[in-house]
Amino acid sequence: MHWESDVKLSDEVRWRIGGAAARLGRVGSVSHLVEALNDLAGEPHLTLGWGANLLVADRGVTNPVLVLGDELDSIRTSPGLIEAGGAAGLPALVGETRRMGAEGWCFLEAVPGRVGGALRMNAGSADTGIWDRVIEVEAVTPEGEVVRLTAADARPTYRRVEIPEDWVFTAARFETRTGDPEAVEAEHFERRRKKVATQVYDLPSCGSVWKNPGGEWGSAWELVDAVGMRGARAGGAQIAEKHANFITNLDRARAEHVLELMRETRQRVFEQVGIALEPEIRFWGFEPDELRSVGAVS
Ligand SMILES: Cc1cc2nc3c(=O)[nH]c(=O)nc-3n(C[C@H](O)[C@H](O)[C@H](O)COP(=O)(O)OP(=O)(O)OC[C@H]3O[C@@H](n4cnc5c(N)ncnc54)[C@H](O)[C@@H]3O)c2cc1C
Repeated sequence: MHWESDVKLSDEVRWRIGGAAARLGRVGSVSHLVEALNDLAGEPHLTLGWGANLLVADRGVTNPVLVLGDELDSIRTSPGLIEAGGAAGLPALVGETRRMGAEGWCFLEAVPGRVGGALRMNAGSADTGIWDRVIEVEAVTPEGEVVRLTAADARPTYRRVEIPEDWVFTAARFETRTGDPEAVEAEHFERRRKKVATQVYDLPSCGSVWKNPGGEWGSAWELVDAVGMRGARAGGAQIAEKHANFITNLDRARAEHVLELMRETRQRVFEQVGIALEPEIRFWGFEPDELRSVGAVS
């Protein structure tokens, strides 16, 4: 197994922020992944997808990082079924469902990421997540055991699954239901149009920073807006004017700038509205007190 050293993670993540990975291994198949995990002999690792939901600390990460590719970046279709490797891109997966005329997949339209990252995040809309379409998922445990999981095992909820953080998702089989191709196409077009019109696609970001709190304040962006943080800047990072739950990298932003904006927002929301916002994004390489300051650990 070849491990690259000192790999700049800012080149690998969507926000274009963060320091280096001390060690990074690119694995092209399940057997290759098992070999890498054996090599690590239980040392805690991290798995990187497209980095579309990830803030990497400026100091980088000391844990070895795994990136899936090659054979694991595959999509196969058959009637009523679509099979994807953990490294397959969500746009490719959604594009395939559109070509099949499959209904019920527009909730993933214009969501950047890989299948593995989406399974970890239960990516989707407010009411539908990718696990709602899962027949079976293949994962590899840190001991190198290949296991099969259903949604009943994962117990998916809003942006969360109950599968150990160090299990790597390598493949998934999804159900597809044939719909009216024209209606499917129109639905996807409308979903994409709406997302691009209201969210930020022309600057590096990680999508929604905070989970929606539900209840009276349905959307996190409304809270950020209500406490006057829309448009706020710290260094090269800015809370987007277009969508107050997005933080954009305007110009060489650092992770510390993003944390500063998150801390200020969370503090104001708690003081003024009494809600403790919870981050939707994942954090790599931060100290426990930094994580606590933005509500990432209690
Ligand atoms: C413009 C924009 C719009 C977005 N819109 C949405 C949206 O509508 N809905 C939504 O849910 N999200 C949205 N997001 C967030 C993001 O697209 C999703 O969270 C996506 O699932 C992230 O996938 P990823 O492969 O980039 O994961 P990463 O960011 O690379 O990783 C996220 C987490 O998954 C883990 N992980 C990655 N790969 C694997 C694997 N193979 N096995 C196990 N764990 C793994 C990582 O360790 C990390 O904990 C948006 C982001 C952007 C930038």
